[in-house]
Amino acid sequence: MLAIQRNIALAKHHHGGVAMATCPICKSEAQEIELGFLDGKTFRCPKHDDFDVSDTALTTRLSASSEEWEAALKKATSRAGAGKRPKILDLDF
Ligand SMILES: [Zn+2]
Repeated sequence: MLAIQRNIALAKHHHGGVAMATCPICKSEAQEIELGFLDGKTFRCPKHDDFDVSDTALTTRLSASSEEWEAALKKATSRAGAGKRPKILDLDF
């Protein structure tokens, strides 16, 4: 519980376009990178590396299980191809 409260506090402070966030896949501490996307967010997770998530997926799939997020990331990764940052869309769930 303490860790969650700390994350919320940190999320309010932006440092050079990087904000602390929670990985939507594994719920661990991650970075949110602001790249100026109009329809999504970029996360940098120690476990899942860099990936984009569309705003639609973020808002409608936030309560999805980690397994569902993992499966969605796999689909997005194979769609993006090697070396490209995957973007998780609502249709990946
Ligand atoms: Zn993660």
